[in-house]
Amino acid sequence: MATERLQFHEMGLDDRLLKAVADLGWSQPTLIQEKAVPLALEGKDILARARTGSGKTAAYAVPVIQRILASKQSVREQDVRALILVPTKELGQQVQTMIRQLTAYCSRDVRVADISGKADLSAQRPILMEKPDVVVGTPSRVLAHLGAQNLVLHSSLETLVVDEADLLFSFGFEADLKNLLCHLPKIYQSFLMSATLTEDVQALKELLLHNPVILKLQGSQLPDSSQLQQYSIKCEEEDKFLLIYTLLRLRLVQGKTLVFVGAVDRSYRLKLFLEQFGIPACVLNSELPVHSRCHIITQFNQGFYDYIIATDEQSLADPTAAAQTPAGKGKKKKTTEKGGKTKDKEYGVSRGVDFQNVANVINFDFPTTVESYIHRVGRTARADNPGTALSFIAHTELALLSEVEEGLAGDHADSVLKPYQFKMDEIEGFRYRCRDAMRSVTKQAVREARLKEIKQELLNSEKLKTYFEDNPRDLQLLRHDKDIHPAVVKPHLKNVPEYLVPETLRSAVTLSGRRRRKRREKPKPEGVVKSSFKKNIQGKNPLKSFRYTGGRNRKGKAGQS
Ligand code: AMP
Repeated sequence: MATERLQFHEMGLDDRLLKAVADLGWSQPTLIQEKAVPLALEGKDILARARTGSGKTAAYAVPVIQRILASKQSVREQDVRALILVPTKELGQQVQTMIRQLTAYCSRDVRVADISGKADLSAQRPILMEKPDVVVGTPSRVLAHLGAQNLVLHSSLETLVVDEADLLFSFGFEADLKNLLCHLPKIYQSFLMSATLTEDVQALKELLLHNPVILKLQGSQLPDSSQLQQYSIKCEEEDKFLLIYTLLRLRLVQGKTLVFVGAVDRSYRLKLFLEQFGIPACVLNSELPVHSRCHIITQFNQGFYDYIIATDEQSLADPTAAAQTPAGKGKKKKTTEKGGKTKDKEYGVSRGVDFQNVANVINFDFPTTVESYIHRVGRTARADNPGTALSFIAHTELALLSEVEEGLAGDHADSVLKPYQFKMDEIEGFRYRCRDAMRSVTKQAVREARLKEIKQELLNSEKLKTYFEDNPRDLQLLRHDKDIHPAVVKPHLKNVPEYLVPETLRSAVTLSGRRRRKRREKPKPEGVVKSSFKKNIQGKNPLKSFRYTGGRNRKGKAGQS
């Protein structure tokens, strides 16, 4: 398969681009890149159904850069030539980073500005006055700048990209997008990238694209079971905490892990709960300032943290209400947080964001839509890496599970979630300490933690913006997974007495906190997705379900038994 693939150097790309691609370590194009780049270079409009992690950003970024380099050979005048519309600020930053990487050897010729992130229009005006070659932004932000005449596109724009088009609709950008089109010239090349080809996206296609090439390269929106293992386990609310404690504290789950919850309060509850056992985790939600959010993601990608507890706010507000909110493909859910905290409409952690080398996704709370499940689980098994997804299912979430499974089965026969055969009775011994920890995590403690974290992150955010612009190295020192501590921490909970560990796991698990503390100081090396579960447990362990490692299963050695 690999040998047949058209290579980057066979695409007629500028040497500077090829050099940057080589620096990124991309030995060959991904499927979407192989198909899209040559067609785009011919000038074709493209509609691509590409799942997240398929390399879709570079599939449009490479031809966009190539076209700018080519047109600058004849017309040197500085102008905005490409506009990339994204649904979230996180994705905006990510696209900008990718373009910066790809233009590492031609950064003077191809300048890029991401205007999705900052709040103040007037602060962005000077950036746009310099007419960067590529502007990245959310539709509302771009429209605001067009309205303020900070940005003029009707004479210069050559390429328009709409990335994660389906999400632009689910984030409510439809009207902005349509209004924005009036500011564009009559002729330009368009790319429409979308994980799902919903009716909205089809309608946009009519509006934007002229005679497009349609690429539906992925049969499924998630990788197949040779790359992505998907499991579910039925457990009640209290068991969810017991189970996550066991998996993380005994380090049975290995590698970087994203834990999704359905509401902001839940994320702090879980963080405080884990804190009781000395397990550090970052919280990520829409209340945090965008600088903090992006910094957390960057540090996570650099290997600073093992665990992020992310709130998927587009998906679910109240886990106890899950049974009343039936799942359905593409249905939109509004999240109403108790306490009326300010939330960022353009926050989107489960969607489009390139968390790198994520070994596991854990749905602590199950998502309410198939779409949301796909976006969350799509954070692992990216590019060619293996990954594992495990969903905790309370009985109130059973209906959602069936609907998601139904949605997935229609898409890909083997994407249905396998039952995770975990013997809960073997970890009964931990229940008492979990209850003990839960007692300290009161509503009041959660409320305080939430406030404290936001205050802290606002401070961090200010620092990030000003101080760290001048001292980028110091940014490394700022951590987001520190204990918050409004809950009473009982020191004895941090240790796990050996007699509580199921006998068969005693030789395999790490009980000492020493190793962890060391690990926190140093980021792990990048580029490796570690096997999800301890290898030495496999084969001996009566808790056979621990055997779901992406890595092993990929090679077809181990399956479920
Ligand atoms: P995307 O689907 O654009 O979010 O990309 C997913 C990940 O794949 C990113 O981390 C990219 O850096 C990586 N990637 C993109 N193209 C390639 C390639 N040709 N070879 C290896 N990795 C790639």
